[in-house]
Amino acid sequence: RYFTKTQEFDGMPKVIDFKIVEEEIDDDLKDKEILGEAIYISVDPYTRYAVYYNVPPGAPIIGFQVIKVTKSKNPKYFVGEKIMVHGGWRTTCKVDDEQVWYKVDKISGIDTSVFVGALGMPGMTAYCGFLEICQPKEGETVFVNGCAGAVGNLVGQIAKIKGCKVIGCCGSDEKIKFAKSIGFDDVFNYKTCKDYPGILKKMAPNGVDCFFDNVGGRMSTDVLACMNVGGRISVCGAISAYNSKTLGQGKPYNISIVKQLLMRGFGVGQFKDKFPEALKHMIQWIQEGKLKIHETTTKGFENTPQAFIDMLSGGNIGKAVVKV
Ligand code: NDP
Repeated sequence: RYFTKTQEFDGMPKVIDFKIVEEEIDDDLKDKEILGEAIYISVDPYTRYAVYYNVPPGAPIIGFQVIKVTKSKNPKYFVGEKIMVHGGWRTTCKVDDEQVWYKVDKISGIDTSVFVGALGMPGMTAYCGFLEICQPKEGETVFVNGCAGAVGNLVGQIAKIKGCKVIGCCGSDEKIKFAKSIGFDDVFNYKTCKDYPGILKKMAPNGVDCFFDNVGGRMSTDVLACMNVGGRISVCGAISAYNSKTLGQGKPYNISIVKQLLMRGFGVGQFKDKFPEALKHMIQWIQEGKLKIHETTTKGFENTPQAFIDMLSGGNIGKAVVKV
């Protein structure tokens, strides 16, 4: 079974925009192919726009998952092993080397679901997107928006490990409590705060050195005013625009010239050669208790669209995961 779209999304996706399709999968595998059953499916913001550009009508919705291998013609992967793949929202998938990210090793104290979160695509995004681009130094001030989500909460925790002061913002008081419980120094609710530069000046009186931007839009422009000369900005995402019907009307970033800011966008895939180092450190930090894992789990494959919509609407704390 797999999910496809019934129509293009109009603003925030709705459950009726998705339907389940049943198909017979030919288990006569070609060289390098692997067949597996989904254990965990990841629901991620990029699916919102990627479905529009990359998923033709009738095709499976794209996404990451952890599968258990049931048949393999690939010498690297064996029956019974778990692997993390870009296989889509499906219960059974046939993938090849191109779609496999890495094996899900049995690591003491780490659940399989973490391989679609802190040890999966969001974790690699947080580690590589923050450390490679922001180059944080001990004692600097870091600001992360979307700070209670899958990527944001990890960026904040990594920034603390690196000895930074960390300020965050998110969309509810419950999330503020969560972010503070994992080490954020100060957090505000962007939905009730009308004056972002004002609150940032209070929470970060020495200015912001590193800005990890998950949100985009007005928030991004306002934060620039609070940045120090020579600040670094990791442009990770722009979730505030994903469900908007009028994209691309942002103001120009003149302030980034005045402040000589280094602002760099990235796609996590460009850091593939850094993943082994990232995994090594992330696993070590989890085992040492320095990096806390938090997930919002939805049970049942049929509830994947609802889990996706809840995540886009802010219903998740930490990583949004579907237990198939
Ligand atoms: P999250 O787990 O953070 O879930 C999305 C969250 O976004 C929601 O919980 C909600 O939290 C928040 N949100 C929704 N609408 C808005 C809005 N209008 N303004 C501000 N916040 C909003 O998702 P991820 O951690 O997986 O992704 C975070 C960002 O990172 C996304 O922009 C994503 O596209 C990007 N990304 C980029 C990658 C890359 O390679 N560059 C790779 C992976 C992710 P709240 O309650 O706080 O509003």
